[in-house]
Amino acid sequence: MTSTLEKDLIASIRNIPDYPKPGIVFRDITTLLGNPRTFRRAVDELVHPYAGNGVGKVAGIEARGFILGGAMAHQLSTGFVPIRKKGKLPHETVRIAYSLEYGVDEMEMHKDAVKPGEKVLLVDDLIATGGTAEAAVKLLRQMGADIVAACFVIDLPEIGGRRKLEALGVEVRTLVAFEGH
Ligand code: AMP
Repeated sequence: MTSTLEKDLIASIRNIPDYPKPGIVFRDITTLLGNPRTFRRAVDELVHPYAGNGVGKVAGIEARGFILGGAMAHQLSTGFVPIRKKGKLPHETVRIAYSLEYGVDEMEMHKDAVKPGEKVLLVDDLIATGGTAEAAVKLLRQMGADIVAACFVIDLPEIGGRRKLEALGVEVRTLVAFEGH
């Protein structure tokens, strides 16, 4: 059954058919972020199970994961770690390549961004294939992070990203689901 919160969140997300290419429905969260109530409720709900769990850092995936992750870190009183596209971070980094639908890309984080054994919550706006989040999990683990969970506002369950992360032993928390791509 769909809860009132899910209904409100779903209603606040703008759907843009055939963007960025035919067949994809872009799930635009700028409308959710622009609404004071849904922005706060989404952040509250994402962090809810993890308050008081000893999380040391929230790691956000560029770029929409920064907006959610900054708010989550503030709420949980943790630090924030940006996981960025390659070439953006100024200090020593670790880098990982990952597959996109066409070709590959690379993401980076600062080498000193997490302490070995530190509890980290990963966040992005949406999980589709799970390829982006999987790379972020691997990068964080390479630096010794203990990943408590990966959080997303939106799941596209037919594409199977959640299963990919769960197969890595990562707990996945999502707030709403949409059919298709
Ligand atoms: P994936 O690696 O396939 O799980 O893709 C997740 C990343 O791509 C996230 O950073 C999303 O913001 C973005 N993304 C993928 N599909 C969509 C979509 N239908 N609408 C909005 N963003 C998407």
